[in-house]
Amino acid sequence: MPRLLLFDIDGTLIDSNGAGGAAILDAAEEHFGIQRDALPPLQLAGATDPAIAMDIFQLVEREHTPQEITAFLDRYLANLQRRLQADNFSGYTLPGVMALLEALRTESSAHLGLLTGNVRRGAVIKLSRHGIYEHFIDGGFGSDHHDRNQLGPVALQRMQDATGTRFDLADVIVIGDTPKDIRCAEAFGAKCLAVATGQYSADELRALNPWRTVESFADLNATVELLLRD
Ligand SMILES: [Mg+2]
Repeated sequence: MPRLLLFDIDGTLIDSNGAGGAAILDAAEEHFGIQRDALPPLQLAGATDPAIAMDIFQLVEREHTPQEITAFLDRYLANLQRRLQADNFSGYTLPGVMALLEALRTESSAHLGLLTGNVRRGAVIKLSRHGIYEHFIDGGFGSDHHDRNQLGPVALQRMQDATGTRFDLADVIVIGDTPKDIRCAEAFGAKCLAVATGQYSADELRALNPWRTVESFADLNATVELLLRD
């Protein structure tokens, strides 16, 4: 049976080592003329980019139109591009990710997409920087909706259109590192493989009853078995 594998990005495929969050704060400084230290710590894990932007507008007590959110995110993307191209960029792909993507490339039953809170352009910037963008056909993005729970059906439809394949929900697996990924999978009836390479431990994730939980993708054979044959 064809399997649809929908990957989250941050904490699942890559760790930008703070560059993504820093680019958000760059945008806040430019857009509002404030100092980054004036903001409380932001809850970034699993949040969509537009939801993060809306939170910041609320924190600085500013109304926002969709156009202002877009303008804010344009500043974020410019800073993200700059930080990821900088000589001192220290982001990395998470353990086992490169080998996993290479292995899945040879599996005809595996169709790889994205299900991420990143806006599409941000996803392209991040994955291209690590040389893994071409593994993914299409997906659902933060630019499609600020509520992550709305993104599953978008990703599913796009992947069906792009591959000409109809996926049974029992064969759709959302792969992510936060409680929000688990809820996002539940919201459209997909399975969730939770991976503890982000801010949450395997025990914390397991407590939320995802389909499966792993520490990382370091064990290639076990991961491929889970994703394609479990
Ligand atoms: Mg994540």
